[in-house]
Amino acid sequence: MHMTQPALDLVIAALERIREKSDRAPCASRTALARLQAAPVAASRREACTSPTERRLQTRNKADLLAAVRERVRTCTKCAHLACSRTQTVFGVGNPDADLMFIGEAPGADEDQQGEPFVGRAGQLLTRILKAMNFAREDVYIANILKCRPDMPAGSFGNRPPTPTEMQTCRPYLVEQINIIQPNVLVALGAVAVEGLLGTRATMRELRGRWHTYNSIPLMITYHPAYLLRNQAPSEKRKVWEDMLQVLERLERPISDRQRNYFL
Ligand code: URA
Repeated sequence: MHMTQPALDLVIAALERIREKSDRAPCASRTALARLQAAPVAASRREACTSPTERRLQTRNKADLLAAVRERVRTCTKCAHLACSRTQTVFGVGNPDADLMFIGEAPGADEDQQGEPFVGRAGQLLTRILKAMNFAREDVYIANILKCRPDMPAGSFGNRPPTPTEMQTCRPYLVEQINIIQPNVLVALGAVAVEGLLGTRATMRELRGRWHTYNSIPLMITYHPAYLLRNQAPSEKRKVWEDMLQVLERLERPISDRQRNYFL
């Protein structure tokens, strides 16, 4: 059986709906599960798209598939406490056919208000990093592990990290986003994003600066922009920039001498 990505997405969406609507979880044989698990690996390699028309159709198809997931996220109440506290869900933003996808932790207060990931101070820094890579926000795709802002006790300020349970509950939506977009490279921003995506708990010192994989997709792990806002040392900025240079190389993007020398 060779299942195409849109077909696989429809199967996963149907299973999700069965799980949400009935008391009994859907059952599948070991063989069927093995085949489903193998499918995204085959599909993550982009089919060669020869003409601009084909590419446009692919982008529209992916946008439609993402819109269907976005609608399920919009009305999601799996974490009842977050469904009560959020202003709105924060699904993701950018090019549905992006080569490069960034994964953050969870929306903060600004994102909760505006419904878009990475629009606060950390987000503005991410946008500047993208610009230095010669990307606009519209070129890449940006999403978070959690689609709701983690709630805070009444009257308190700031953010709290998502709990492991919240991340496990929300992760299937991110998996669907990745399966639809099929980026050539993923970037996880910070250790919490890594834990949410891979289930791996480790320090950033151990994780960053080298290639990992998620479902056969190359995954670069780097510091969260909020870390750079707290640690303004040029050496830390350079580390993130070196990680981004590796990403540009992997995407076979041209890199100028000026780009190579940032923060040296
Ligand atoms: N931090 C994140 O991890 N995600 C956002 O969307 C904003 C801040």
